[in-house]
Amino acid sequence: MTEGDPKHMPRPATFTRPDGRLLHFYGPFSGEPVWPPESTGHEVAFSHRRWHPVRREWVIYSAHRQTRTYKPSADTCPFCPMTPDGEIPVKDFSIAVFDNRFSSFQKNPPKPLPIPGLDLPVEKAAGNCEVIIYSADHRASMATLPQERRELLVQVWGDRVRALMEMPSVQAVMPFENRGEEAGVTLHHPHGQIYAFSYLPPIIETMAQSFREGCDLSKLAELKQYTIDETAGAAALVPPFARFPYEVWIVPRRFRARPADLNAGEVSDWARLLASVANRYDRFFGRMCPYVMIVYAAPRGMEEFFPFHIQFYPLLRAPQKLKFIAGCELGAGSFLVDILPETAAQSLRNIEGVP
Ligand SMILES: [Zn+2]
Repeated sequence: MTEGDPKHMPRPATFTRPDGRLLHFYGPFSGEPVWPPESTGHEVAFSHRRWHPVRREWVIYSAHRQTRTYKPSADTCPFCPMTPDGEIPVKDFSIAVFDNRFSSFQKNPPKPLPIPGLDLPVEKAAGNCEVIIYSADHRASMATLPQERRELLVQVWGDRVRALMEMPSVQAVMPFENRGEEAGVTLHHPHGQIYAFSYLPPIIETMAQSFREGCDLSKLAELKQYTIDETAGAAALVPPFARFPYEVWIVPRRFRARPADLNAGEVSDWARLLASVANRYDRFFGRMCPYVMIVYAAPRGMEEFFPFHIQFYPLLRAPQKLKFIAGCELGAGSFLVDILPETAAQSLRNIEGVP
């Protein structure tokens, strides 16, 4: 199944910060890191997870995350190069990945205490959370990054999934991007995150069961009525069963388990479709569209049937109207959608001027 050529996989230059967190640069970067002299390290506060006995799922508690950076001005952005006490101690870079200062999971957390008076499973929140910065340019976005940078981004996803899966406790790795304040973004510098889970989260578990039983995403790529853009290796489409208005998936034509399995042509195809989707959203809604983008890769042991693919959830249903998750969705898990997927596909397909 694997056609990805290891020789073409990017390898990072890796540094260890004074506080022990790892920092990786992919692609060219300028100079040796200059660590701020006042950098005395950050206090490690551990998360833990508790079993929800009614919903039968894990809930992660990370009380230390309340103090994380909230909407800094552009000149104090910790993701811009050389910001004092920021994350990027070099003058310029292509793509940077580092351990999240406010991580929800830790590499070696201690065993948490039980809940007094309640016999519920409480476990370590083992795993890792990384931040991935797409560009040194504070104003860049998925829609405006050059093609070569998006190709590098796809390759970096591949390398990070590979690297994090080498941690014995990690079961699944999920890169994602929250875009825009409506998606909860507190830092506007173009970036995403990569979560490495030590357990199988419920949505990924359900998806795995479907794929194990033969659900085939490549069949969706043949549905012209739902396709909004396509390449030789992948198609961008509104799934006929979309739960969000204007939801878009990028699906492979041939099975690939993880982004590292893509060949050079497919990397280029996926990179082009990422820009196509972001540009179509921004043009259709007439503003930078807030969305949640999720990169799914095969969890441990599921490399034979769980396909690499990407799902976009735009948080708008019209230019000035937000899509909210409300009573029926939150309470019953049933999504109400007021636009047909085929109509949404037609609208997004017909956007003109998309590069
Ligand atoms: Zn910035």
